This record gives sequence, C-alpha cells and structure tokens, in this order.
Amino acid sequence: MTQTLDSRALLSVNDVITAAPSSSCDAELARGPWDFDLAPGYGPGASEFDVIPTPVTRPGQLPTAYQRMSDDELHARIRAAKEKLGSDLVILGHFYQRDEVVQYADFVGDSFQLANAALTRPEASTIVFCGVHFMAETADILARPEQHVILPNLAAGCSMADMADEDSVETAWEELMEVYADEADADGLASVIPVTYMNSSAALKAFCGRNGGIVCTSSNAATVLEWAFARGRRVLFFPDQHLGRNTAKAMGVPLEQMPMWNPRKPLGGNTEADLIDAKVILWHGFCSVHKRFTVAQIDQARAQYPGCKVIVHPESPMPVVDAADASGSTDAIRKFVAAASPGDVIAIGTEINLVNRLAAENPDKTIFCLDPVICPCSTMYRIHPGYLAWTLDGLVEGEIRNEIVVADEVARDAKVALERMLAALPR
Ligand code: SF4
Repeated sequence: MTQTLDSRALLSVNDVITAAPSSSCDAELARGPWDFDLAPGYGPGASEFDVIPTPVTRPGQLPTAYQRMSDDELHARIRAAKEKLGSDLVILGHFYQRDEVVQYADFVGDSFQLANAALTRPEASTIVFCGVHFMAETADILARPEQHVILPNLAAGCSMADMADEDSVETAWEELMEVYADEADADGLASVIPVTYMNSSAALKAFCGRNGGIVCTSSNAATVLEWAFARGRRVLFFPDQHLGRNTAKAMGVPLEQMPMWNPRKPLGGNTEADLIDAKVILWHGFCSVHKRFTVAQIDQARAQYPGCKVIVHPESPMPVVDAADASGSTDAIRKFVAAASPGDVIAIGTEINLVNRLAAENPDKTIFCLDPVICPCSTMYRIHPGYLAWTLDGLVEGEIRNEIVVADEVARDAKVALERMLAALPR
C-alpha cells in the first residue's frame, strides 16, 4: 500500500510556497516574480552576444494589467491564445517548471530533449520555451532560421550558467595554454579539451566549438568525457564541478587529478604542477538547487523508511551521490521510478516540481524529495502564467515579445560543439 509520508510532496509547489513561504528556501518566492526581477539587465544566464530583443523588454516590464489579472483570467487568456495560434505555436515545458505553466506545454522534458522536440514541429513559426535562458538559446541554435524562440520572462536564467562567463573561461584558457606551452606533442593529443555542460550560455558552447571542445548533458557526460580523452590529455569541465567530478570519478579518475579552477585566483588557485598532473580541471560552479542535498538527508530517509531507495541527480555533491543507491539525469530518475515496484518508497534528490509530478504520476509508490525544505529552481519559477499570457497575447496581436536571438557566428560555433556531442553518442 502506498504511504503518504509528506503531504507537501503531493501539493503543487506553488500552493506550498504561497501557503507557507517560510517552508521554502527563499521566502521571496511567495511574491509575484515581477516583484523581485526588477533589476535592470538582460537577465541571468544570457549570452553576452545575444541580440537584445526588439521591442526592448526587460525583466520587470510585465505590464501592470497582467500583474493584476486573476489566475482565472490569465489561464483563460493562455487557453484562448493557444487555440487561436494552433499549430503555429509550440510550447516547451522543462521538467522543473511549475505545474500552472507546464500544463500548457506540448512537450515536457529536459533542455536538450525539448530543443529536439521542437524540431518535430517545423510548421510552428514560434517556439515558447518555459525554461531558462540557456535552454531558449539552445532551441534557437537548433531551430529553423525562420522560427522565433521566446522566453516568457527574460529574468529566467540559470545561476549555474552564470558561474562561468565567457571572459573568465577565455582567461582560464589562456593561462592553461601558457602552462602547457612546452608540452611535447608526441602522442598527437591536445593538451586540454574544453567540455561544457548544456547548462551554459551559447557563448561558451561556441567557445568549445572553436577550441576542439564539446557539449555534454547529465545523461551523456561519461560518453562525452571518453570522446574528450581520446583527443586530449585533459579536460577543462565547466560550469558544474559536481557533474564533472561525479562522472570522472565513476570512470576511475583519481580525485587528486581533478583540481578545481577558481576564476578569481591566478591559475585558478592551482600550482603549475597540479595543472600538469590534472586529468579533469573542474570549474568552480554548482547548481543552487542540487547542492542542497546532503548525506544527513539520505540517512534520515533511510532511518524513517528502512529499505527505501534513494536516487539523486549528478549535480549533487559527490558524498551525496556516493551515499545514494543510484544517480542519474532527470530522464534516468524517471526510468528508475518507472522500474520500481508498487509499494516501493523512493527518496529523490532533484528539483521539487519534478519530484511532485513523479509522485502524482505514480500513486502506487511513495515518492518524496530528500530536501524537506521546498526549493524549486527559483529562476525557472519566474515563468509565471502572467508572462506566458502576455507573450501569447503578443503573438495573437502579431508582436513577438521576449525573443531570444543567438548571434549567427555564436550559433554557428555552438552548433559545432553540439554536433560533436551527437556524433559521440552511441547509435
Ligand atoms: S535547477 Fe540548477 S542547473 Fe537547472 S536551471 Fe535551475 S539553477 Fe540552473
């Protein structure tokens, strides 16, 4: 029989945050996103070479009328616009997106699955990506030239993607090239291959494309590292240190050969000897959602539910991944849950919207989030239905709002790195 161990896990995350802001990791989440995304700028996670949308719309510029609309009116507008636009529109919803928005998605998945899903709808002139900035950029890179990609709220960025900006990576690259300048080229391998996680700006994907590098996702990171080791002596892995460390460790790379690169320090805070001995140089980045999971939470789940299964995302810290029964991408977590037996208790270390959805889809199993504090991806949470209604109404009126346009030369080089990833995967 399925046990309901934590009633919060079965509520919409929005209900929980609205009802009890103090139970979330950020009390500000209970406020309308327009209250806290007023800071000027293009929005976190943007590639610095992105073309500023025309007409210029910035975070916090959701018209007051939309801020004041009731939920019922917003949803009625979204439904009406969606019906009117028909096959001319495709809406993509990331696994971590809130339910009030994801219910309108034509496809729900991880960032790369969604960018590919959009390719199956060439008749759509507009792709509305209910995710974060780097995801919309990737969709724009892969979309047909005549297709427009919209991010409903330009302030929906990714704090991890922001941790590796292009200037810092270029500086790191120059320093590494100096360190490896005298390395003999006897084995035909490059000194270092840049590998960027999908969760990075288009500018960094382009950097990898230009420098013999490649993109990875959380589901193919090991395959991509194998590809890189066949071509280089080492890897510079950014922005997520945890995915890099967990993946390389599982492949047998010793921790001593995985120095951390802190962009604020000369040589990333390392000695030349460290860098010469390195196999994987890990950028000092992390996901603010996944770094919250702890071994103590796993111990507590097992004490409370002996025999429960624990699976965590590989963006979690290494001790957490080591203590769990399994780790894997969002897709792997979904498959793990699907393969479990009725009555199983499963503790999951990933974003709360996905965990809640899995709990609702699998009523024969008890599924809960390892973190007792409600902590959604706070930047993705900025895609409030108000922004979706406003951008869809704009399309109905013939106006494209919050378009994400990756500059042609950036898109060209980024595509090279993405295509290398696709070519590296087993067929
Ligand atoms: S969950 Fe973490 S890595 Fe994913 S979009 Fe949010 S901040 Fe970025």
